[in-house]
Amino acid sequence: MLYYLIKTNAGGNTLTHSSAKQKWRSDKLAHLGSSIFAEVAATKAEVRKSGIEVIDLGIGSPDRGPSYKIRAALSEAVLREDSYSYPASKGSAAFRRQAAEWMNWRFAVEVDPEEEMVALMGSQDGLAHLAQAVCNPGDLAIVPDPGYPIYSGALALAGVRAWTLPLLEENAFRPDLEQIPEEVWREAVFILLSFPGNPISVTADLPYMTRLIELARKWDVLVVHDLAYSELGFDGYRPISILEVPGALDTAVEFHSFSKSFNMAGCRIGFMTGNRTAVGALRELKSNVDYGVFGPVQEAAVVALEQAMASAPDEGVSKMYEQRRNVFVEALAREGWTVRLPEATMFIWAKLPEAYGVNVEAGRSRRFAHELLLATGVAVIPGDAFGQQGEGYVRIALVEEEERLLEAARRMGIFLRRNGC
Ligand SMILES: *Cc1c(COP(=O)(O)O)cnc(C)c1O
Repeated sequence: MLYYLIKTNAGGNTLTHSSAKQKWRSDKLAHLGSSIFAEVAATKAEVRKSGIEVIDLGIGSPDRGPSYKIRAALSEAVLREDSYSYPASKGSAAFRRQAAEWMNWRFAVEVDPEEEMVALMGSQDGLAHLAQAVCNPGDLAIVPDPGYPIYSGALALAGVRAWTLPLLEENAFRPDLEQIPEEVWREAVFILLSFPGNPISVTADLPYMTRLIELARKWDVLVVHDLAYSELGFDGYRPISILEVPGALDTAVEFHSFSKSFNMAGCRIGFMTGNRTAVGALRELKSNVDYGVFGPVQEAAVVALEQAMASAPDEGVSKMYEQRRNVFVEALAREGWTVRLPEATMFIWAKLPEAYGVNVEAGRSRRFAHELLLATGVAVIPGDAFGQQGEGYVRIALVEEEERLLEAARRMGIFLRRNGC
């Protein structure tokens, strides 16, 4: 902790003195979740150098590209000379209108594209900045553990305190809203949840969402719903929007991403829609820190939504991931490792086999991921990268073709047997 003496000189300038000036590195950086991912990346490079072929099931970056139609729209827009002025940071009128129409088509939800919609440079952009737009330093927000790393990272950047809601196996990993104490509800500015979530693809139905909105309205808390995996439900399950709950617009916002739904991760585009006060606050902040998404990317995103609206539900990306999930989970079971079948997303949340590292007191997940990668070239992310409750698990991303996933399962089987599992 550093204590600053603030002095004002005759000219009115504020001079900040500190006995321990940082050498160009803020304390906040230590609270961001990037270190474990960097560790895995470094080990990956080491393994590649040693000649072992890496199968990367670590970072959740889609391995396929967007449809031809989307790529063609992007190319055409890129070639037009009038595509290169600063875009509006809130997003073009055409993009916001199309996003609102898609919300209506997909969820039967009505949002106002003028006031209840903001384009984002990927939903990461909004998730990273929202706390700074709606909270003051010292405020409190509720986030899940385990959770997607930027949830708590954004709070650290904004100087907001986190109250973590554990996702426990005994509750089927569903956050227990009734367990949040009244004083936390009273103090919290927002509660951030994600259904289906990452790293755990836990889902929520309308009654659960309704209860969440009811509690939020009672305590004047903003509900922030991250719906990055809306198009990745399996076995006929289609994720729902929190804005389907009547009255949700009074107290909720929702994040949407084109990265996983349309394989557009590198384009950096998403949107936040919902409560107009919160949307307005994020727009205002963003109009100062960036100038929006490149016009051609917004045009390509419009085409992605139009194309989805002209297709059947099973023409999206979900079938491919469902198939991969089935192939991989079955192969892993044949190797003796039975894992929970996710009902959505591109991730397996795998509990380490009981017999692995029984004598290791702490850091079993990190050790497992590290040793597996070194020994077999298969990269996965240790569960504690997503919070304390992630210890004892690893996250496996289904971002390789089926034959590579089968090969990964085979290598994992050899590793497990070598470790007495
Ligand atoms: C991938 C992901 C995001 C970020 O998506 P972008 O739109 O690419 O920034 C947000 N939330 C979750 C849960 C994700 O998995």
